[in-house]
Amino acid sequence: PQKPFQTKLVLLGEAAVGKSSVVLRFVQNDFQENKEPTIGAAFLTQKCRLEDRLIKFEIWDTAGQERFHSLAPMYYRNAQASAVIYDVTKASSFEKAKSWVKELQRQANPNIVIALVGNKIDLLGESSTSDADADADEDDDTATATPEAGAAGDAGSLRAVPKDEAEAYAKEAGLLFFETSAKTGEGVVEVFTEIAKKIPID
Ligand code: GDP
Ligand code: MG
Repeated sequence: PQKPFQTKLVLLGEAAVGKSSVVLRFVQNDFQENKEPTIGAAFLTQKCRLEDRLIKFEIWDTAGQERFHSLAPMYYRNAQASAVIYDVTKASSFEKAKSWVKELQRQANPNIVIALVGNKIDLLGESSTSDADADADEDDDTATATPEAGAAGDAGSLRAVPKDEAEAYAKEAGLLFFETSAKTGEGVVEVFTEIAKKIPID
């Protein structure tokens, strides 16, 4: 039996973007509609099996509220990985995510693996499984205009952070990038698996 390789991962992001929900989905494959806000931070562990190794994530799920900001360095200081989460329907949460990335790049371990994660994509109604409202794609003109947004139909969606914009930022900043739904589970396991692949073993 392989000895798991332990990796400390910290979750950061504005309050209510779904940090705790993403972890709950990853660790227990569960979702709660009205999740109570995290106080301080919560600690959870979960193993992740890759082809060639077993990683045990030690996850610090921090509170997003500003009054807890000063505690964050305690959690990211020795972290090998971080998932910085925002809500794809809330532009301010993307700005907050970028400021967390800056802080990590200035203050955390220089080799830290950072994943930028746009959560709550289930709210967009642009999923491939489209049993969605019949009038959703009739009136493109009413959709939020996003100059370089991809061809993927975002008509009628509540998207506030264009995927291309977030992806381009992530690329420029050297981050992994994902969009997820803790509610449906879409993309969640990939976040942790791709992070795990990037963790140096020695
Ligand atoms: P945190 O403060 O970042 O830890 O956010 P929580 O995990 O507590 O989630 C805040 C609220 O958003 C809760 O009511 C969750 O049920 C809800 N939520 C979290 N993730 C999702 C998601 O992917 N989709 C939807 N629709 N709601 C979500
Ligand atoms: Mg929380």
